[in-house]
Amino acid sequence: MNTRNDSIVCVTGASAGIGRAAAESFAREGARVIMMARRKEKLEQAARDVAHATGADILVRDVDVTDRDAVTHVFAALPDAWRDIDVLINNAGKALGLSPGYATTPEHLDGMLDTNVKGLLHVTGAVLPGMLERNRGHVINVGSTAGHWVYPGGTVYCATKHAVRALNEGLKMDVHGTAVRVTAVSPGLVETEFSLVRFEGDEEQASKVYANMTPLRAEDVADAMLWAATRPPHVNISEILMMCVDQSHAAMVHRHA
Ligand code: NAP
Repeated sequence: MNTRNDSIVCVTGASAGIGRAAAESFAREGARVIMMARRKEKLEQAARDVAHATGADILVRDVDVTDRDAVTHVFAALPDAWRDIDVLINNAGKALGLSPGYATTPEHLDGMLDTNVKGLLHVTGAVLPGMLERNRGHVINVGSTAGHWVYPGGTVYCATKHAVRALNEGLKMDVHGTAVRVTAVSPGLVETEFSLVRFEGDEEQASKVYANMTPLRAEDVADAMLWAATRPPHVNISEILMMCVDQSHAAMVHRHA
């Protein structure tokens, strides 16, 4: 991405957390940003905040990435000036619950698989053909340390993030011989709404995840995305695996006394 030339960046899951931070980071660098998520009001407020902080042009689209038809429609209906997406950030994702894999409820199973795996493919399927036609573009997939390791209670979530890692590698092969780039950014613990979503709004349980340690901030992950996107055009960063200093493995977190 040439950050001086008015690039168009599309971020899914941009109403909160890492996606919102990514929207702001790229907007600060001069990009025009399409922010997508389901919660319209929260998304619109996030977009106003990003526009106010950066002066960038922001386009908002409320869409559920699990709904393939809605995804197809939203991209097909983009205004002409916003169609040629340079950077797609596949960020929408979630963990639901901490059940053993075999006891995962149907709602949690569908929620994780449909968002983290199928949703990523729905959006990529709508955007990547245009990148290939233009022979220009960059797909950044948000993976996780959960794509490298499995931890107790994370069986299904970890399986989805292992799938994201496989998709990331496969997509790079799919675009082999073109100028399109594909990168995974795979963080460990980041303090966002992630744990609140996992524990269905239980703030006490969510806050324990980050107790007595210093997790990554959403902005740290956004920085890594921006770095990958601003390498010279012949450089493809395959994956950035990153954790805070207090974490050394998916299940190894140092808690300060
Ligand atoms: P977050 O604060 O909960 O943000 C998740 C975002 O995804 C929200 O904007 C949410 O917006 C959106 N989203 C969820 N389901 C969606 C759907 N079906 N369609 C469209 N948008 C949807 O969590 P986060 O930590 O920023 O997570 C972002 C990504 O990072 C996820 O892929 C997650 O797996 C990954 N990750 C997180 C961590 C961590 O510790 N936080 C670590 C490694 C990887 P709406 O609810 O408004 O749709």
